[in-house]
Amino acid sequence: MASIVLKDIVKKYGDGFPAVKGVSLDIADGEFVILVGPSGCGKSTLLRMIVGLEDITSGDLEIGGKRVNEKAPRDRHLAMVFQNYALYPHLTVYENIAFPLRLTKGQFSQEEIDRKVNLAADTLELRDHLERKPANLSGGQRQRVAMGRAIVREAEAFLFDEPLSNLDAKLRGQMRTEIARMQRRLGTTTVYVTHDQTEALTLGDRVAVLKKGELQQVASPRGLYEQPANLFVAGFIGSPPMNFLPGEVDGGTMRLPFAEVPIDGPLRERIGDRKLVIVGLRPEHVEDAALLEGEKIAGGVRFDAEIDVTEWLGSELYAYIPFDTHPDVAAKLEELDRDLDGEGMRTQVIVALSSESDVRDGDEAQLWFDPARLMVFDPETGENLT
Ligand code: ATP
Repeated sequence: MASIVLKDIVKKYGDGFPAVKGVSLDIADGEFVILVGPSGCGKSTLLRMIVGLEDITSGDLEIGGKRVNEKAPRDRHLAMVFQNYALYPHLTVYENIAFPLRLTKGQFSQEEIDRKVNLAADTLELRDHLERKPANLSGGQRQRVAMGRAIVREAEAFLFDEPLSNLDAKLRGQMRTEIARMQRRLGTTTVYVTHDQTEALTLGDRVAVLKKGELQQVASPRGLYEQPANLFVAGFIGSPPMNFLPGEVDGGTMRLPFAEVPIDGPLRERIGDRKLVIVGLRPEHVEDAALLEGEKIAGGVRFDAEIDVTEWLGSELYAYIPFDTHPDVAAKLEELDRDLDGEGMRTQVIVALSSESDVRDGDEAQLWFDPARLMVFDPETGENLT
């Protein structure tokens, strides 16, 4: 096993615009790191450079403390697990796992191959399936065979490129748990590429968020959710996504489309002389005031909302509330939506209420939030001021 260190890595395809613009990242031995971002952000390019399938234009790549920029893929001792697992359909599970050992042409005796395959099969709970063909395995078992192949090679690290993107939602959930379980058991350094923020949050020790070839933030899943560095990360992490509202600052208060909130202390200082900010409000931080105790209500802000449409999901109730944004933040929010692959400008707030709520389509409802939960962003740079 090994650490993987990226130092100011740049990738230019031909004379084009750089696909990766100076990414630095330290991945510790045994760590599980996710590279996440919307389509085209450069995450697959980064992974392909690590594994050696793509040249590095500039910067240094170190594996286990040694610079490997010029090393051939096979000399980097990494194992790439692809979307389709690349198993041989005509070979048994045993032979699929043994395959990389047989390729070394006599380096391993049959006894050694036997021992290594059986050890991998034990670790991956595949012992009872060794004689089966891939067609007779579940998706999760196939994934484990692919990992088994990586284990017998004693790879320094596992690299996954969107391994679950072709699966339906249920299977994706199962496989996600499986990968997490196996990675923890094996303790192998793992780099995993995905565009799916749920995978990023549930799998990784740390998550690196990329936008247009640039690293935006590297943090634990909780760190990204609670303390996003900027509008992009705030909008990317969380489902349904964070609402962004204009906040007009006037002395010690901030006027949102639905409510006024007091601002004081360090936040007031960080807002400085800005007259207009972008305010982030997570859907799950808004509650139906009718369901709250008086004491809790007093600690937050109540506001009247004209509900457009509701969606009852069993566990939650989503309600949509149209609003007019401020013309001076509209362009920034449109740009953000484009970066996030969103659809059109954000002209409605979505709130995730308790499924007990009686709020229905067309209602005038009283909602509630705790202003301490709001995030405040610079309207020009998008930096989180909170
Ligand atoms: P996706 O999730 O859609 O695969 P990604 O985040 O993995 O996206 P990359 O595939 O790394 O992104 O691509 C990053 C940028 O580099 C994109 O603008 C893409 O068009 C460009 N690119 C990728 N491969 C090549 C190539 N072989 N030649 C030229 N440009 C490329």
